[in-house]
Amino acid sequence: MIIILLGPPGAGKGTQAGTIAEKYSIPHISTGDIFRANLKEGTPLGLEAKKYMDSGALVPDELVVRLVGSRLDEPDATSGALLDGFPRTVAQAEALAEYLAAKGRQVDHCVCLNVPDEALIKRLSGRRMCRECGAGFHVDYSPPPADGRCSKCGGEIYQRDDDREATIQNRLKVYHEQTSPLVEWYGQRGLLRNIDGQGSVEDVQVRIFSALGA
Ligand SMILES: [Zn+2]
Repeated sequence: MIIILLGPPGAGKGTQAGTIAEKYSIPHISTGDIFRANLKEGTPLGLEAKKYMDSGALVPDELVVRLVGSRLDEPDATSGALLDGFPRTVAQAEALAEYLAAKGRQVDHCVCLNVPDEALIKRLSGRRMCRECGAGFHVDYSPPPADGRCSKCGGEIYQRDDDREATIQNRLKVYHEQTSPLVEWYGQRGLLRNIDGQGSVEDVQVRIFSALGA
């Protein structure tokens, strides 16, 4: 079973990816990991990708698909895989479908976690962190001490730039622009599983498994 997982920042994609991969005994594959592994091992594909990266260019879709494809050809992925962070564009989705079809395989489900932007902004913009020890807090769920000092080490508590509302709004805008054509593409092929991503981790998990027919 090959599953693609889509979801905005803050929707708990990482947690759900882990449970899906475990449930179906398939590897959780992220493009970042594939790149790192190929670069580290100096594979021909890795060296090719490095040329683009060193010159500051984007790695072409066709090469990204070959990298992901070669990972999907590995023994642990022959019964399936969960793809996280790929495809990012319709061109990549088409190239992936072609690559898999040549091997008699196909994407079975595109799981899309949906959480309203306002809820994500509330979740992410409430994060606070200790500058010294990295301890995490949240203004609503795990409030930092009133004196603004870390309860573990006394360090200064601050908000990361990534967690500022304007930054989050921008990331969500990028996510929606990037994802909506993909959602439409998988929808047209009957592969889209829209999941309500609100509520507890367990609630969302149950919805995903029921959509996948488990
Ligand atoms: Zn601290």
